[in-house]
This record gives sequence, C-alpha cells and structure tokens, in this order.
Amino acid sequence: MAIVYHKKLLAHTQWEGHPESPFRLKTLKKKLMQEGLWGDVIPPVMIKDDDVLKVHTAEHLKRLKAGGNVFLDPDTLLRDETYGLAMLSASVAVTAVKLAKNGVPTFAVTRPPGHHAGKDFMGGFCYLNNISIAVEAAGARTAIVDLDVHHGNGTENIFYGRDDVLLIDVHEDNHYPYTGKKEDRGCGAGENYTVNLPLPSGCGNNTYKMVMNDIIIPILRKFGPELIVVSLGVDGHYCDQHSNISLNTQGYVELCKQLIGESKDGKIAFVLEGGYHLRATAEVAAGVLAALEGREIKPEYNEERPENSNGPRAVRKLKEFFAERWGI
Ligand SMILES: [Zn+2]
Repeated sequence: MAIVYHKKLLAHTQWEGHPESPFRLKTLKKKLMQEGLWGDVIPPVMIKDDDVLKVHTAEHLKRLKAGGNVFLDPDTLLRDETYGLAMLSASVAVTAVKLAKNGVPTFAVTRPPGHHAGKDFMGGFCYLNNISIAVEAAGARTAIVDLDVHHGNGTENIFYGRDDVLLIDVHEDNHYPYTGKKEDRGCGAGENYTVNLPLPSGCGNNTYKMVMNDIIIPILRKFGPELIVVSLGVDGHYCDQHSNISLNTQGYVELCKQLIGESKDGKIAFVLEGGYHLRATAEVAAGVLAALEGREIKPEYNEERPENSNGPRAVRKLKEFFAERWGI
C-alpha cells in the first residue's frame, strides 16, 4: 500500500477556527507516524488544466483561477492561491487512483476536499472534484463509494448520465447539501448508476453494516468494477459535530475492510473528504491503512452509541427500492 501526500496541502486555509483546517492533515500524519504507517509516501504528479476540463466546465476553471477572496458560500472562501492548492489536492487523488489501477492500494491524504464540487459549481469547502478528476484520468470501469456523511452532490452531478462509473453514496438524510434522495438515480444511459442511500439521523454502526451487506456489496457485485475508489469522509463519527450519525472508529474501519475485500488485485483507493474531529479522523485513516497492511490498530474513539431504532426499517425500504432495479 502507499500514501499519496504533499506538505504544501497544509498551506490551504479558510480562516482561523474553520473546521477544514491544516490541523486535519497534521494530526493525521502524526497518528500514522505513531502507528508506523507513514512509510511509503509518494508525492503527487501534478495534473494540468486539461485533466480538470474532462470533469469541470471551462467557466468553472476560469472562476477558480480568478480567485479574488470571495465567499462561494458562508463557509467556503475562494482565495487567489486556491487554484494552485486545489490542483495539488486533485493531483494527490489522481496519483493515488492511478496507482490503485495498477494494483497498489492507496490512500490519498488530501485537502481541500472535493465531493461537493460539480461540473460548474463549488462550495461546501470544495473547489475541484478530486475523486472525479482521478476516476476520469484512470479510465477504468469504476465504482465510487462515498462514505462521507454529507451527500456527494458534486460527484453525482458529474457522473449522473454515465453507466461506466457507478456512484453509491450513503449519507445522512435531510442534512447538508439537502440532496441525494433515493429517487435521484441517474439519467439517460446513467439511469440506475447513481445509488443514493439516505439514512435517518441517529444511525450508527449497525445500520451502516446492514447497508453495506444488504445493498452496497450486492450492487457492487452486480456492477463488477475494475476499480473501487472510496470518498472517505469521517464526519459520520460520533465525535464529529457536523452530523447526527454515530459511527465509531471500528465501525468505519469495518466498512472500509469490506470494500477492500470486494476489490480485485489491490485495485482500491481511499480519498479523504470530510472529517473534522481531528483525532477521530486520524484514527480512522490509521485503521484503514493498517487494514490494507493486514493488521489492526487499537481504537481510542470506539464507544458504542445508542442508535435510531428506525435505521433497520429505513435500510429495508431502500433495499426494496433498489432490489427491482439491480436484481439484488
Ligand atoms: Zn462531509
């Protein structure tokens, strides 16, 4: 396994006190070093504008390049230097996914995140859709599994009409960015290749385990991807203040282990998205990297929180909905 990272990613800032801060990667790196996992670290190969234009519009790129210290939304600032840093973040994902396509499982330790950036929109701390640019660059039949607690509206927007890229997105329902209903399942050739799995607030390990076993894995097997890439957001952790989902560290790691188990010949990449509790995010990343090495870490943030009792029913209804479309 390999980590793709560049220390210049720490230069990206919103403003003091903003949750999407350089401390996220600093804490993550420290944890990986402590666990003896910061070994094979590869710098990214820089992408070019042409790689971006396969996913985003020319207008989008022009707007990003213009900078100007403007607010894209109340939580996302576009600075003059954002273009270069967003390009670096996307490059980390591209390098990681290309390595994965060649059979080296990877973890892209990167920021700013990407999954809220669509063909022609930015926001939610995102400027370029890192994972989409990477999937496009790799050119394989790919399944994207988005585990970030927020719906990956940007990734959905980019692949909505495509049948060569499957997007499975599990997220908290009625939460930012308020998209990702199950009925939104792709269009044209892409019909059914977007699988949105909104879960009610208060769900945790058990409900997610059901979603993975009863829906995600059966659909993955039907699709038969050459490559699996994971939008790994850790903001569904019970320590994280940005959601009402209560996964714990082991819960996250187990989900990722199952996806590793579904990948063929090491063709899996994890790309960091959200996750704002510094140590919980670092711990989950360490657990996933340890799993790629066939070992385990001992989690500190592993409380079992009570779960919403409506979770299993919600999963059964989702399964019913997708059963007829996927034959699962
Ligand atoms: Zn998120």
